[in-house]
Amino acid sequence: MRDKIEKANLVLRGKESLNDGIRFRIFASSLAGVHLILAGIAAVLRCQPLLVANVIVCLLDLLSNLGTRNGRNYFTWISIVYFASCFQSLYACVLLGWRYGFSLYNLTMIPILFYFMHLTKSISNPKYYAVLYTLINCVATLVIRRLVYAGEPIYNFPIHTDFKISFFNNIVCFLFLISFSTLFILELSVKHQELEQQNQKLIRLANYDELTNLRNRRSILAEWKKLQRTDYCVVMGDIDDFKKVNDTYGHEQGDEVLKIVAESLSNSASDVDYVSRWGGEEFLMIIFGDISCALKVTGRVQQRLKEAELSVEGHKLIVTMTFGISECSEKLNGVIDELIRQADQRLYLGKRSGKNCIIISDQ
Ligand code: GH3
Ligand code: MG
Ligand code: MG
Repeated sequence: MRDKIEKANLVLRGKESLNDGIRFRIFASSLAGVHLILAGIAAVLRCQPLLVANVIVCLLDLLSNLGTRNGRNYFTWISIVYFASCFQSLYACVLLGWRYGFSLYNLTMIPILFYFMHLTKSISNPKYYAVLYTLINCVATLVIRRLVYAGEPIYNFPIHTDFKISFFNNIVCFLFLISFSTLFILELSVKHQELEQQNQKLIRLANYDELTNLRNRRSILAEWKKLQRTDYCVVMGDIDDFKKVNDTYGHEQGDEVLKIVAESLSNSASDVDYVSRWGGEEFLMIIFGDISCALKVTGRVQQRLKEAELSVEGHKLIVTMTFGISECSEKLNGVIDELIRQADQRLYLGKRSGKNCIIISDQ
């Protein structure tokens, strides 16, 4: 019971949506209640055909509750309940005349039918059925309207009876429309939130490297192109002899090293700087400030890697990196390709001159 109250609370706050079965049961049970009351009214009025019709429709409503358990035969029961309810109200119009307001049920059923068809996953083409059923309802209502207009009602009751019953019918129809429209809006907002969350996940997947949690090449290039500032350095870093780590300790251990390197880079750079996994065991950073700032950051990375507690099977693993740095000058003014080429070339120089170093010029 507590669970149900909690669930209802979440649905009403637009945090969770109802499943097909529960949504349908709420609808069918409310309809069964209305038809039971109408059967009672028919009994008081001693209008036997109306009593029988309402009892049958009420039983169908209750039966549909059982029929849709486990989410089975959902579409069949929506159709049965919809047409039974429409038939019942038109039959009441034929028996008592138009002034009793029974035709309102036929109108009320239309948005509710669309709501159910829109949210159901049980059939492949729900909109088609919603339109078809509405057209059938519409034609039947107009035909009955014409017939009722042409002839006298079969049953005549004392004055004010029509007003009281039509008042009841109006209230019921308004309540149905208000409550199901509200549920519809709440469920749409849940769907909207779910889509938004999925969107965020996709954006994250498209822009960040899963292993290191750093920006990927695509993402840093996109940010770089948007950059208005020119006071920054480009740092290209590459892990030294990383292939050996893989070959000696295995690929998984290699992945661990990549994570530790990524952490060291992120922790050494400031929050405004950009750190990315450029590809494989290469990393590219955009450090705001002059060469001395970039040197401080890369120096901190080297220090962190030295202090990192990395040991495999009892052996201490020493990870080092080589860096090439280029500075964005007035002349280069954000020419991305040139800045990358310079940093890359300096990184290559560093590799050739013994690795584990930071190179800031071409000599
Ligand atoms: P150097 O000092 O000259 O950079 O030598 P290196 O061994 O680091 O460079 P090399 O280009 O020879 O090898 C890079 C290796 O990085 C080869 C590749 O298998 C490995 N690698 C690339 N991406 C990943 C990854 O995501 N995980 C792991 N474990 N290894 C990776
Ligand atoms: Mg390498
Ligand atoms: Mg490399």
